[in-house]
Amino acid sequence: PPAPSAPKPNMEENKRNYEKPWAVEPSKKKSGGKSKDSDSFLYHCYPDGVGPDTDLIEMLEKDVLDKNPQVSFDDIADLDDAKHTLQEAVLLPILMPQYFKGIRRPWRGVLLFGPPGTGKTMLAKAVATQGKTTFFNVSASSLASKWRGESEKLVRLLFEMARFYAPSVIFIDEMDSIASKRSSNEHESNRKVKSELLIQMDGANVASSAGGDEQLDDSERGKSVLVLAATNRPWDLDEAIRRRLEKRIYIPLPTTEGLKQLFKINLKGIRGGSSIKIEELLKKCKGFSGADIAILCREAAMMPMRRKLASGKVNFQELVKMEKELDVPIELQDFKEALKNISKSVSKENLLDYTKWMDEYGCK
Ligand code: ADP
Repeated sequence: PPAPSAPKPNMEENKRNYEKPWAVEPSKKKSGGKSKDSDSFLYHCYPDGVGPDTDLIEMLEKDVLDKNPQVSFDDIADLDDAKHTLQEAVLLPILMPQYFKGIRRPWRGVLLFGPPGTGKTMLAKAVATQGKTTFFNVSASSLASKWRGESEKLVRLLFEMARFYAPSVIFIDEMDSIASKRSSNEHESNRKVKSELLIQMDGANVASSAGGDEQLDDSERGKSVLVLAATNRPWDLDEAIRRRLEKRIYIPLPTTEGLKQLFKINLKGIRGGSSIKIEELLKKCKGFSGADIAILCREAAMMPMRRKLASGKVNFQELVKMEKELDVPIELQDFKEALKNISKSVSKENLLDYTKWMDEYGCK
């Protein structure tokens, strides 16, 4: 049978969508599911398990729906301003929909921008975890490359699915790769994906759209779909998309205090030797991103094992039996050794581009 949920290209359609009996209550919903799961979106579309979009829906349920993001705000170093802003802009409207109406209506979309490896994805996951929302984790570049031709249909199905499992957060990483500025030689399919994205973003959160919220009852207000996008290249974003991402939050490189926290988080359960001087380490890691620190700590933590192997006194087979002996504290020398192969991944010039864009379009 044809899918009961045909394309819904406008607000009116989206509004009607909320009246559908299958729009399950958040408390009763199951996040995702297999085709035979009667609470799943696939079952809702095709109770018999067959239909034209079965593959796409299954792909979304398998690869994009993250049933268990499990990241807490405490796992994220630094970024207190961003955490507070996200809590106010995203979490509270989900948790207290009554308060966030009229002039206090939630933002249509939120953009996290900044250098790579600074915790944007982690923040999005923490929002979904704390808000107990269904989390859709979309990598825009893989959507564009893997599903070229079908991408626009995929975008539509994604938002439909998010409404079905609402309240939901759709996190679109690398937003610039599907929503870059218009250009004369732009691929037709790219243009279509972008316009579908605009249509869906306009209708995603019916309760938040200006003027529309007064007619909706409380249960409908709780069924929000929030678009959280991230990019390392905010200046490449299409203007219309940028305007819909109303709240734009800069996620900078860690401060010195942030670096300290990052070492603590990454070396949890690992002993540090007496030679370690944190001030010296911090100096060497100035300008590192959170991801750089994570890699550095991993490399340093392997050094005792590598040292043993390099000494030539043990061979590979013997090494495998030395698990306990190898668990010695890491020393400053281990970090120095690791630092030979790792350097900061963001340049100073690049940082200037972010602050310039922040001044022009960001939210303080
Ligand atoms: P982004 O989305 O900004 O590119 P991610 O959130 O994917 O970066 O972070 C990549 C990795 O870097 C994480 O898995 C984590 O190990 C580390 N990381 C980056 N920023 C932080 C942070 N603020 N706190 C803790 N870990 C971080």
